[in-house]
Amino acid sequence: MTIWRSPHADLDIPTNVTTYEHFFENNPSLSGAYENAITKERLSFKDVKRRAELLSTIFVRDYGLQPGQTVSLFSGNSVWYPVGVWATIRAGGRVNGASPAYTLDETIHALKTADTKILLTLPSSLPIASKAASAVGIPQSHILLLEGTSPGIHGIQQLLSSAESNPPPITPTYRIPPTETNKSICGYLNFSSGTTGLPKAVMLSHHNIIAQCHQLRQLQVLAATEPATPQHPNGLPPYRILAVMPLFHITGLVRFVSYPVFMSGLSVMLPQFTLSSMLQSIITYKIEELILVPPILIRLVQDPAVTPYLADLQRTVKRWSSGSAPIAPEVIKALQRKFPDTGFRQGYGATESTACISAHPPSHFDYKYAHTGGKLVANTIAKVVALAAPTAEPLTGEADEEILLGPGETGEICARGPQIAMGYLNNPAATRETFDKDGFLHTGDVGYIDDEGLIVISDRIKEMIKVKGQQVAPAELEDLLLGHELVEDCAVIGVRDDYSGEVPKAFVVLSNQKGAGEDAGRRLMEYVKSKKVAYKRVREIEFVDAVPKSATGKLLRRVLKGWERGE
Ligand code: AMP
Repeated sequence: MTIWRSPHADLDIPTNVTTYEHFFENNPSLSGAYENAITKERLSFKDVKRRAELLSTIFVRDYGLQPGQTVSLFSGNSVWYPVGVWATIRAGGRVNGASPAYTLDETIHALKTADTKILLTLPSSLPIASKAASAVGIPQSHILLLEGTSPGIHGIQQLLSSAESNPPPITPTYRIPPTETNKSICGYLNFSSGTTGLPKAVMLSHHNIIAQCHQLRQLQVLAATEPATPQHPNGLPPYRILAVMPLFHITGLVRFVSYPVFMSGLSVMLPQFTLSSMLQSIITYKIEELILVPPILIRLVQDPAVTPYLADLQRTVKRWSSGSAPIAPEVIKALQRKFPDTGFRQGYGATESTACISAHPPSHFDYKYAHTGGKLVANTIAKVVALAAPTAEPLTGEADEEILLGPGETGEICARGPQIAMGYLNNPAATRETFDKDGFLHTGDVGYIDDEGLIVISDRIKEMIKVKGQQVAPAELEDLLLGHELVEDCAVIGVRDDYSGEVPKAFVVLSNQKGAGEDAGRRLMEYVKSKKVAYKRVREIEFVDAVPKSATGKLLRRVLKGWERGE
């Protein structure tokens, strides 16, 4: 029986503090800031702390927020986003991030799943947020704008200014009750469809986030053998990161909202992604390590718009980092050719593991290890479980039925550590299926661990489709398609796409064969487009006589994947 252990020294991770206490109150220097890359609006962490004190007081006093209740943020990247996060955490609430581009149905599902009490958003998302709030019984008064104004809706900035001119007595910071630890207190709800079904709210504890930040810092400290970059001549702090990926994704929550405070760094927010704004910001802020997803790395190597920035980028960037989805070997090779003096690393993990299960240690920042997901981060152990036969029912996660595999043998990667989530909110069945009785997360990812302890991910047995690093749950698209008059039955899987990694493809049994052909396909694609955020769109439809199912009626997606491969 092989159990892999992290090669790094064990870390002592505090168990009696919230993330707010750990990062803000127990942080004597509290230097650093969030800054908007475009407008240059800057909120120092000291400013953020003061505002979190005021805003949490407002949440508690005027909106009745109680410990354990949810504040949802439907917003792009903004320096005000962390103010909402830290105010919620200070009050003992749960922070829930979601895409501001969600359609009405998606927003309603998100608000219900997270059991939202207060909704923070931007003017552009207000029409949908407002309708969705009404649909789930959230009063309009509980919708607040992070930025901008809109008639009849309060903005947090206006609320803060009036509170600053007439300061209220500040409510006390929420503390972990003496009978509990920070492992049992949920502070964050992030959406993931997990192994199967619709998006669920993953419960992340304060301990999960604190642990992941300690695990990441250990790798940073190890990397300190690199030529030091002390205070930058133009006053930039040594640790600087560009928030390209969304703050509502787990990577954004950890790397751009939480970790920079821990590192007294500068988190530069890119409010809207364009290639040129990213490249210009890398140069302006002298960003040395970029945390990106494969499609952006593809643009870096293919897009001619990079050329004018190339020399500056080559001088500035020390390392590229990729995560959230597999990266093709050709992209890695092209990146190395274009930036020969850079290093490369991957982070591998999931929302259910507060981001990283593994990452490359500094000794492995080399392109020759780029195809791997690196080594287990500190305090983390892993097992690789043999897979059931291709047409069998999905694995159940029952530890006693498992066959554990050795080095180089391919199976399901399972991990245990202080960053493994508490479970899914209000969904004990999904929690049992994904988190086994020994505390291991069953990732639904297929791969192996080699003799050196490097994890290589080769496939996915869970249903989830990854489009440009973002999750698409096939069940969500199937539920939608099944509601269309043309559809008798259907199944959705991810198919390979050079740029997006994967895109959704639907196999549809038409209810009325007369409607078959191009028109039915076009109508169904338009229907999905009108109901779902852009990255969830079905890109291909194949009409079939029946979709493959097991004796108990479960969809056999792995058979469909086989069809795709021509098997
Ligand atoms: P999410 O919860 O959105 O972060 O998605 C997690 C899933 O993304 C994982 O279970 C993997 O399927 C995939 N993933 C994350 N990082 C990597 C990586 N470095 N290589 C391959 N797949 C990855």
